[in-house]
Amino acid sequence: MSKPETTRVEPAALQADFDAGLFELTHENVERWLREEDDARLAKLYAAADRVRREHVGQPVHLRGLIEISNHCVRQCAYCGLRQGREGLQRYRMSADEIIACAHEAVRFGFGTVVLQAGEDYGLTREFIAGIVRQIKAETPLAVTLSLGERPEADLKAWRAAGADRYLLRIETSDPLLYAQIHPPLKHQPDTPRAESAFEVPRVGILRTLRHIGYEIGSGVMIGIPGQSYAMLARDILLFRSLDLDMIGVGPYIAHPETPLGQTTSPLSEHDQVPNTERMTYKVLALTRLACPEANLPSTTALATLNRKTGRELGLSRGANIVMPNLTPVEYRAMYEIYPAKACIAETAECCRHCLTMRIRSLGRPIGAGTGGRQRT
Ligand code: SAH
Repeated sequence: MSKPETTRVEPAALQADFDAGLFELTHENVERWLREEDDARLAKLYAAADRVRREHVGQPVHLRGLIEISNHCVRQCAYCGLRQGREGLQRYRMSADEIIACAHEAVRFGFGTVVLQAGEDYGLTREFIAGIVRQIKAETPLAVTLSLGERPEADLKAWRAAGADRYLLRIETSDPLLYAQIHPPLKHQPDTPRAESAFEVPRVGILRTLRHIGYEIGSGVMIGIPGQSYAMLARDILLFRSLDLDMIGVGPYIAHPETPLGQTTSPLSEHDQVPNTERMTYKVLALTRLACPEANLPSTTALATLNRKTGRELGLSRGANIVMPNLTPVEYRAMYEIYPAKACIAETAECCRHCLTMRIRSLGRPIGAGTGGRQRT
């Protein structure tokens, strides 16, 4: 596998650009970078992100094994293929034995972390998840990351007490109006934490709670949601910094034809609407690295879905330091269809591991050892 094409930027010239304040993240600068279309200038942005990544989180690429443990969901998110009420989707929930077997596979493959992700599924009870976390922590050296949606505080506390290390909850967008349109609240919401003001989205309140409970916290947004403007996306990136996130996942929004949002067009003009393109994803990834030098940033599957050949590598060269090989048993993969034509859907866990390892080696970067948690410098 060959190294993807990247334009070389001389270190001295790059330093001069840093000194000139080109990468200072004022709202105005961030929005200007998001609108930048000149390849030579974008090469500088990518080189700056790559330098900051190297200086703050180093060369290793950490592997997080993703286990998609259930596709049941009580929510009706307008963008997501797992939304409640979607017809024709067969639902599954993995057994404890199946999940634990995947965790042991992660250890055999040399991964430092497993990520348990699902729709918001109350069939995954507080006790069930706590038991799984306890068993993984007792039987393996893995860090455990949970990504199970907006659960009541008592659940989040019980899982942390059982040993869970990290929690991922993307805000999807920081704009309260757009958020309310794409992510309606549950009718009979159990006691989940709330936003502190009308100016922030409810998931920000939950992230603060998670940090208070003692988790490393991860969030992120989708790029190019219909109705998402450049100004909103610039505010998202600046919010990542003010929340001091430990992990940030950004990927393109991919329309799912069997969802309400997948059937709508943007109300914004072409001038204001952020495109859901591969290039925009690199810009956001690079700006996110500049905003949050120490954070762990994955090169996402959604990005690889737009460019199967070199998307992962380009993400790793433009700010990312994490990849998440899929450990979900093949019989369930296609059912975890948050968006269509997801990359790697038919691969076995062994194939995913092999392919991603080769891609990382082609960049001359080592696989990270240990659990790869946030290092504060
Ligand atoms: N139920 C959990 C996990 C959701 S799936 C939760 O809500 O947090 C994980 C992520 O997939 C979501 O946070 C969202 O950012 C992303 N996703 C969902 N639908 C998508 C789509 N159509 N295009 C791109 N990403 C999508």
